[in-house]
Amino acid sequence: MDETVSTNGTKSSDYDAVIVGGSLAGNTAAMLLGREGLRVALVERQPGPDAFKRICSHFIQASGVPPLERLDLLDPILAAGGVRSRIQAWTRWGWLKAPPDEAGLGLNLRREVLDPLVREAAASTPGVDLHLGRIATGLVREGEAVSGVVVRDRDGKETTLRGRLVVGADGRDSDIAEMAGVKEKVIPHGRFAYGGYFEGGVPEYAPDSAIWFMDPHWAAAFPTDSDLVFYAAMPTKELLPEFKRDPTEALTSFVAGLPEAPPIREARLVEPVLGKVEMPSRERVPVAPGLALVGDAALAADPLFGVGCGWAFQSGEWLADSVAPALRGEERLERGLKRYRRTHKRKLGGHEFMIRDYSSGRKITPPERLLFSAACRDQKVAATFDKFATRQVGPAKTLAKTIPRSIYVNARHALRSRGAAEQPAPAEEASAAR
Ligand SMILES: Cc1cc2nc3c(=O)[nH]c(=O)nc-3n(C[C@H](O)[C@H](O)[C@H](O)COP(=O)(O)OP(=O)(O)OC[C@H]3O[C@@H](n4cnc5c(N)ncnc54)[C@H](O)[C@@H]3O)c2cc1C
Repeated sequence: MDETVSTNGTKSSDYDAVIVGGSLAGNTAAMLLGREGLRVALVERQPGPDAFKRICSHFIQASGVPPLERLDLLDPILAAGGVRSRIQAWTRWGWLKAPPDEAGLGLNLRREVLDPLVREAAASTPGVDLHLGRIATGLVREGEAVSGVVVRDRDGKETTLRGRLVVGADGRDSDIAEMAGVKEKVIPHGRFAYGGYFEGGVPEYAPDSAIWFMDPHWAAAFPTDSDLVFYAAMPTKELLPEFKRDPTEALTSFVAGLPEAPPIREARLVEPVLGKVEMPSRERVPVAPGLALVGDAALAADPLFGVGCGWAFQSGEWLADSVAPALRGEERLERGLKRYRRTHKRKLGGHEFMIRDYSSGRKITPPERLLFSAACRDQKVAATFDKFATRQVGPAKTLAKTIPRSIYVNARHALRSRGAAEQPAPAEEASAAR
């Protein structure tokens, strides 16, 4: 790292990339760029290496697991107590359970354990300098392009970190995006979230997780490390006053009142129930000259579908793969940024489109009813649906594969139900014979 001191005493350091935000997305990008032999400054405002995101249900979708394998983090995560699991969904047509499939396994590990583990791996990657306890307060520009970040330490001292690329990995309220004037779309959210970790009373389907589509309310049980279960509720806002009045009691009775409820009443809360009332989706253009956004800074989707952590790992990976050739001097940075933008849109655009609409708090629509009901009745539909829900395939392919079969499955179900209704019951049969 080259460090110079300017006439006004401000220090300035040169890197290939300056990444702001030392959480899942930022650490992923830093590790992969470091492995390419590039010099990376990783700036995190939290002072302690053990800092973690507190408001998060922590479930990582199957699509987020391959980047962890690539980063050699899957084994350490499992050794730290990570639990591989699938999700089964309760719907008014019954349980939607896909047939077992190794590729469909997600991952549960509390952020309290996950975040320090991932950060430590980034900090020990050659080429990566982790700057803890520094907050990004300004951007430096050369012409149109962003070319550095002003960071302030806890004593108020400012340093400029210059980089050929600046990366905003600073979450849904990204300061970097705001300072850069990146265009964003904010989509209001009709639900709120409360959740907490409980011990004891583990559901019978553990290690698998369960979610409930109470239409429009939603709930979940995620068994995780240390024999804990994270219970979460995401109701629509008319239930907010009772959750605000007594979050623990409201969460416990909400979960205990679910159909085929998990045994939350037999469990003990191990830390305070936390809630988030406002969680609008935020979609931003993920590149600008000299700048890229990853993770929630690029796209903060509705947490109900548990996609944010996986997308943070994936977008960090896509960015590093897209810009590494340019940062090695093999092509123009603009080309790498374009490649990243295209990949981000191609992989996540369709999913985000589907997720965004449901975040209004609406009830499920007739086409969704068709798919959910058919998936509960037929393992082939369930398998395709699961690949979509775990974000391994996009909506277009899923709809093309499931709609015709769903129509067939439901028509067959209707015929069988009608046939059964027309069959005389055994008692009626006997009296008719008499
Ligand atoms: C209620 C709720 C439940 C959720 N449940 C799930 C779930 O079950 N599964 C799932 O996959 N996702 C879930 N999410 C989403 C998930 O938490 C995020 O998508 C994920 O944390 C995004 O990771 P990230 O690295 O992009 O950003 P973050 O984890 O938000 O990290 C941003 C980092 O940037 C740092 N930072 C911010 N500003 C600055 C600055 N100016 N200077 C320096 N550093 C800065 C912060 O300190 C932080 O470390 C949930 C979210 C919510 C709100």
